[in-house]
Amino acid sequence: MSEPKTPPAPAAGGRASTKKELPEHFKAYKHVWVFIEQERGQVHPVSWELMGAGRKLADKLGVELAAVVVGAEGETVRGAVAESFCYGADLAYVVADPVLTDYRNEAYTAAMTDLVNTYKPEILLLGATTLGRDLAGAVATTLLTGLTADSTELDVDADGSLAATRPTFGGSLLCTIYTLNYRPQMATVRPRVMPMPIRVEKPIGRVIEHKLGVVEADIVTKILNFIPDRDSNKANLAYADVVVAGGMGLGSPENFQLVRNLAVAMGAEYGCSRPLVQKGWVTSDRQIGQTGKTIRPRLYIAAGISGAIQHRVGVEGADLIVAINTDKNAPIFDFAHVGIVTDAIRLLPALTEAFAKRLSAHSSDKLAS
Ligand SMILES: Cc1cc2nc3c(=O)[nH]c(=O)nc-3n(C[C@H](O)[C@H](O)[C@H](O)COP(=O)(O)OP(=O)(O)OC[C@H]3O[C@@H](n4cnc5c(N)ncnc54)[C@H](O)[C@@H]3O)c2cc1C
Repeated sequence: MSEPKTPPAPAAGGRASTKKELPEHFKAYKHVWVFIEQERGQVHPVSWELMGAGRKLADKLGVELAAVVVGAEGETVRGAVAESFCYGADLAYVVADPVLTDYRNEAYTAAMTDLVNTYKPEILLLGATTLGRDLAGAVATTLLTGLTADSTELDVDADGSLAATRPTFGGSLLCTIYTLNYRPQMATVRPRVMPMPIRVEKPIGRVIEHKLGVVEADIVTKILNFIPDRDSNKANLAYADVVVAGGMGLGSPENFQLVRNLAVAMGAEYGCSRPLVQKGWVTSDRQIGQTGKTIRPRLYIAAGISGAIQHRVGVEGADLIVAINTDKNAPIFDFAHVGIVTDAIRLLPALTEAFAKRLSAHSSDKLAS
């Protein structure tokens, strides 16, 4: 008879031997920071969404929440600082310098890394916007720390580590990522993933001004001219109140016009599932879901969309989801608030007509009164 086998010892350096033991010199890192993204006079709303998430983390850790505002001295920076207190900041770090007038990776990375090395935050959050993604990657690599991109949940676990959760394996699994041995723990979050916190009028609190350690001559990139994107005036799908979207169930690009018509009648934005973008029926800026936009409208109407997990994660924050699908077993009915089992190609024109009549009657009532 053979000896019973004992289970093999976990491999050295493998997962089982991973310890959440922070090196001594990182133990001084405290507090939660949120990078307040502002460009051309506008603060990106994702910054306030992150302040809401940051406030919860800071309260759980019993530390302060700081806003980090970087830019040229002036109204925008001062406004961003003032607003950050209304969205929950205990203090604000400001680096104001003409070199920071327009976003340039080298200058902003220098400002951020110098701030981090001087004041040592334990958590640093940025928006997963074009600017935020560019900056976060450069800051994390310069500081040699970890970054969890496109996080969908942020929490603090029992030992005080940041637990940043994000989809993996094509969105079929969620994984929680820790930055065990480095500081700060960095994460980016896409616009609309976190709810917008309530703004509470508050006076400006503590502000720590920090000098920029680089001068214009140190920066290789020069801004010669600013040419706005010709689509920059387009309404913003992520922040729309009402969104109508179509999927493969519509069958053809011509039928997708039915979605646009309903959106026009309702004064809504329109969007789509990913295969429609891949087929070239709709432009990529209209894609909703894990690899598209995250939306949080008051009303979301999905026509001919099955409700795959990668689509679901982009729409779950909607207050009311109405799904139109011929298949009563479609996964979208698992999370829709109102389900209509019917042919969208027949229902969409009827809805468009009904909304057009109803809303025009309503607006002429208003004009008459
Ligand atoms: C890494 C990765 C990332 C992804 N990211 C995204 C993403 O960001 N966004 C996204 O949407 N998808 C994404 N996907 C794709 C996703 O997995 C699904 O394939 C996709 O969402 C399906 O699109 P659909 O619902 O339009 O099409 P289908 O799954 O083909 O569903 C069509 C639906 O229409 C219904 N239907 C058919 N005829 C009609 C009719 N006449 N009237 C009404 N209903 C009808 C059918 O019953 C069916 O439920 C991603 C996939 C991967 C692997």
